[in-house]
Order: sequence, then C-alpha cells, then structure tokens
Amino acid sequence: MKPVFSIIAPVYNEIACLDTLLDRIQKVMDQTGEPWELVLVDDGSTDGSTDKIRQLAENDQHVRKVILARNFGHQIAVTAGMDYSRGDAVVIIDADLQDPPEVILDLIARWREGYQVVYAQRTEREGETWFKRVTASVFYRSIYRITDIKIPLDTGDFRLLDRKVVNVMNSMRERHLFLRGMSAWVGFKSIGVPYKRAARFAGSTKYPFKKMLKLALTAVTSFSYVPLQLAMWLGFISAGISIITIPVVIVLRLVGSQFFFGQATTLIAVLFLGGVQLISLGILGEYVGRIYDEVKGRPLYTTSETPDDALKTP
Ligand code: UDP
Ligand code: MG
Repeated sequence: MKPVFSIIAPVYNEIACLDTLLDRIQKVMDQTGEPWELVLVDDGSTDGSTDKIRQLAENDQHVRKVILARNFGHQIAVTAGMDYSRGDAVVIIDADLQDPPEVILDLIARWREGYQVVYAQRTEREGETWFKRVTASVFYRSIYRITDIKIPLDTGDFRLLDRKVVNVMNSMRERHLFLRGMSAWVGFKSIGVPYKRAARFAGSTKYPFKKMLKLALTAVTSFSYVPLQLAMWLGFISAGISIITIPVVIVLRLVGSQFFFGQATTLIAVLFLGGVQLISLGILGEYVGRIYDEVKGRPLYTTSETPDDALKTP
C-alpha cells in the first residue's frame, strides 16, 4: 500500500539510536491511522549501523533501506531519502532523537490544515555546549541578514514537506546542498511549529566545527552574492582613501613635512592591500570551485543497496 507519510532519517554511525528511533516513530505514526514508511538512509556508517538497518528493514515492512556507497554528508543523505520516499507528506528527522518524534503529530496537524512546508522551530536546546549554541545562533542570524531568501530563524532540517514541495526540491540537483534554504526558496504555504530540541539519545555529534563551517559557507554561497560584492566595496573604499591621501601626501612633502617618510607606512599599505586582494581571490575561488563541481555533473550520490533492488530480476 502506498504510504501517506514518509519519515526520512539520515544515519551516520547511530547504531545505539536505531531501535528506539523505530519504536518511538512507530508509536507516533500508528496514532495517525494512515500507512507510513521510515526511510533509513545509511550514510557510509562504520559502526554496524548498516547491518542494523538491513535487519530492521527485514523485520519491519515499514522500514525502507537506502544504503549509500560511502559517506556523502548529512544533506545528501536526506536528499537520497527524499528520492526514495513515496508518501504524500515527507518528514525529515535526525536519527539521534534530538528531534522528538512526538512533534511529528503537530507537523501533520498543520499539514492537514493545508500548509505545505511545516518547519519545526527550536525554542530551547538541551545537552549542547555553549559553543554550539552560540555558533548556531550567530549562523542563523547572519544567514538571515546576508541571504536573499528569508530562512526562518532557529530551524534545522526537522520539517514536514508536502509531496509537491518534495518534487520541486528533487528537481534541484545542486551539489552543495542547503536544504532549509532550498525549502524556503521554493515558496509554498509555510508555517513554524515550536518545539524543544532534546539532547542526543546516544553517541556524539557528527557535525564538528569544520563541517558546520562548510555548511555555513554553502548556505552563504548558494543563496547570496554578498561576499563577491564585498571585494568591490573594499576596492571602492581603498581607492577612495588613496584619492584623498595622495594629494595630502604631496602637499605634506611640498611643505617639507616628514610625516609620511619611511618604509613602515609603505609596508603597511602594501600588506593591507595584498591581504585584501588575497581574501577577494579566495572568495572568488570559493565560488569558482562550486561552479566547477556543478559543471562536472556527477551524480549526487552512489548507492550500494536501494529499495528498488528487490523489484529487479537478477
Ligand atoms: N549525519 C549523516 N551524515 C553525516 C553527518 C551526520 O547522515 O555525515 C546524520 C546523523 O546521523 C544524524 C543527523 O545527520 O542523524 C544529524 O547529525 P548530528 O546529530 O551529528 O548533528 P547535530 O545535531 O549535532 O547538529
Ligand atoms: Mg543531533
């Protein structure tokens, strides 16, 4: 039977969470009275989660397994899950139970009212370091200011998307994905549902600072040209300063002032401009690298096992 609801959970070394995840989702989804599926996407786990997913899929017909050929990262794992989901509404949830499955019922209630994007908005975060909270807060606020689309503050990927939205998002095959931005970009009738983000059920975060920074860079470059324009503004400013200072220096020299003599001033000016130029080049490189990735046109991910395998004749 075609499911009405698809729950997608990307899994990267979350073996200790999987049983409880299925249990809690089962309890919640059975209350809806509709057929549902849980798409577990294994993102190249090395701790035995892969076998666990196989086993869950074997024992429970609600579980649909998608096994990626290596670690492709959280955003791509979710995209793979969306590709293999069949429901009329799709819920994206973390496998570590930081997003309480019970909130799904609130999301579904809003969907039934006619909203096509229902995002869960964090009002509180438990069990996360102050560093994570501060960086996350700065991240959401700067993205909001810099980018052209208004991504709701404090929302992660935990959300419900109508099939219509999923179809549009599936057609956006970007290599550097920022799903929350994309789901805001596509438009549609949206609303937020507040929730309290829990602590991790088990294990540790798979988003170290480096990965967070990478996601932040993707968010900015995918939705804004501001960094590119920054080079232009810096250029205008330094050109403006030199237009003002050149006649000043000439006059000072003519009247015999020693003020601008010496190598130190020259050195500072050269180093400053050199720095600005290198930073601008770096920003340009960031965009060019991304263009290069897009142009290569490689598939977003490769799978070693998919639900379709069962349908194929050997
Ligand atoms: N995840 C993934 N691939 C990765 C990193 C993370 O599939 O390369 C999954 C992870 O298993 C979890 C979700 O993405 O289900 C969110 O990751 P995590 O909880 O580590 O991030 P945090 O909540 O700490 O930001
Ligand atoms: Mg988490």
